Amino acid sequence: MSKSFKLVEPRGAEAAPSTSAQPAPETDWPLCFICQETTPESLTSPSQNTRQDKGSSYSILAGHLRRFNELGLLPNSFLLSRLDEGSGVEAALSANNARYHKTCRLRYNKTKLDRAEKRHLKIGADEEEEVVDRKRTRYLSRPSSTETKHQEVKCFFCGEAPGSAGLHEAATFQLDSRVRSCALIMDDMDLLTQLNVGDMVAQEAKYHRNCLLNLYNRAR
Ligand SMILES: [Zn+2]
Ligand SMILES: [Zn+2]
Repeated sequence: MSKSFKLVEPRGAEAAPSTSAQPAPETDWPLCFICQETTPESLTSPSQNTRQDKGSSYSILAGHLRRFNELGLLPNSFLLSRLDEGSGVEAALSANNARYHKTCRLRYNKTKLDRAEKRHLKIGADEEEEVVDRKRTRYLSRPSSTETKHQEVKCFFCGEAPGSAGLHEAATFQLDSRVRSCALIMDDMDLLTQLNVGDMVAQEAKYHRNCLLNLYNRAR
């Protein structure tokens, strides 16, 4: 493993007095570029793994950070602009062989981002609904969200609407256990997954009689 070849420029102030952190507009690249703190945790960088990865690791990370920033989820002490030295965040990360603590990096990974996005979307949607409520439906009845929530009754087996045949409701545990054994015999993962939710009676499963008979026949 070759060590990073980039020389670290001495910053002069070796024994800089530890004044209470003035949010530095510049990044101290030899430190963790995320937290800018010295902790016992060792620093890592993509370039220490495979050289090829380096660019893409940085650009993925930069992308995540940008999203976090847009969502307003970066800590106040972490100014994304501090990482941009004129040609974009990933360029600066790459040029400086940016190092980071694994734990700091993990705070901004894909999973965390997805979760944050989801929360954000949810909050966004709620806010919007509230605004609409206030503006337009103050004296009207609430816009019926039941319409979208309304679940059409569908056949447990084929997922289709009742149609002219109509649907029967699963009323006995015998039915459930017979369906279950058919599903096992045929190794029907979809059906088994549905059955995993609970027994058909509890799920108030409805079905086309033909679909049930088909199942029985196929499992024979
Ligand atoms: Zn850190
Ligand atoms: Zn059906």
